[in-house]
Amino acid sequence: MKRRDFLKKAGIGVAATAAVVTAKAPAIIASPKYNWKMCTTWPPHFPVLGEGADLLAKWIEELSDGRIKIQVYGGGELIPPLGVFDAVKSGQVEMGHGAAYYWAGKHPATQFFAAVPFGMNPQQLNAWFYGGDGIKLWEELYAQFNLVPFPTGNTGVQMAGWFRKEIKSINDLKGLKMRIPGLGGKVLAKAGGSAVLLAGGEIYTGLDRGVIDATEWVGPYHDYLMGFQKITKNYYYPGWHEPGTCLESFVNKQKFDALPKDLQGIIRTAAMKSNIWMLSEFEAKNQTYLEKLTKESGVKLLRLPDDVLKTLHKLSIETLDEIAAADPFSKKVLDNYRAFHKNIQKWYKTTEDALYYSESLQF
Ligand code: CA
Repeated sequence: MKRRDFLKKAGIGVAATAAVVTAKAPAIIASPKYNWKMCTTWPPHFPVLGEGADLLAKWIEELSDGRIKIQVYGGGELIPPLGVFDAVKSGQVEMGHGAAYYWAGKHPATQFFAAVPFGMNPQQLNAWFYGGDGIKLWEELYAQFNLVPFPTGNTGVQMAGWFRKEIKSINDLKGLKMRIPGLGGKVLAKAGGSAVLLAGGEIYTGLDRGVIDATEWVGPYHDYLMGFQKITKNYYYPGWHEPGTCLESFVNKQKFDALPKDLQGIIRTAAMKSNIWMLSEFEAKNQTYLEKLTKESGVKLLRLPDDVLKTLHKLSIETLDEIAAADPFSKKVLDNYRAFHKNIQKWYKTTEDALYYSESLQF
């Protein structure tokens, strides 16, 4: 009886599969092909970040069996790095790749989807995106600009940066010219410093020639490749300003809405894969490169003093409150972000903190 049931079910299964194949075959033959352009904010094939854009295009092409082909352009190859947002908005190109805090001038709330000083780490941020309201709010914001956004990578917790002079108190930040983007730059300004905007390719020379006194970048792996260790040995942690910066890709909304559902799903899936891939690249290599920096280049690993961190924390809260007070949509996103962060921090206190921060329980 059981065997007959099984065979019967198996038979139905085969018939159903056959029906699907028959029905789908003509659709595949008739399905349109898409030749897209993706412009990035990174130098061409830039390690991890630009590589991530190249891989995203490759994965979308592979997963769609060649139905979407995407030609990737580094910053300046087709569109200037900071022109990518408008180029995708207008439909000049179909897709962009960058970090949402580059678009603070378009809307202040964009910054909350990249990095919030003293905010959520990558694991928590992903929980907000995929399990909370994060992506929904991000989509609502970008829809105003005719874009559909996707979390597409994460740097992990960054380093505080490279300083030509040691930072011993908050007074050492007064008058300090530092390359630091996004909300972190606004906080530094409140502390009496000035945030200088320099594109990735200009930072090394800027620090070397004293145009800036300090710079942050990402973390040991990427910073090593940038070569800042040749200019100064003072390498500070923790990256209070970027506790897990999310990278993004985005598609022109009309182009995205016009895609068949399966291709929309493929783009979302490939972006999700890239989100994990990029974080894994940084996390797997950072400690190894930190040791290279200290052992090979004599870099001093220094912690920002507690009173400096406490002041920066206070000024960060003020900065966020001011943005929320000035703009209702920013308030909506920030309220949601803060509530989620508060809740997940409680859970982390019970679990992660107890497990990872007890010296006696180390693996
Ligand atoms: Ca950074």
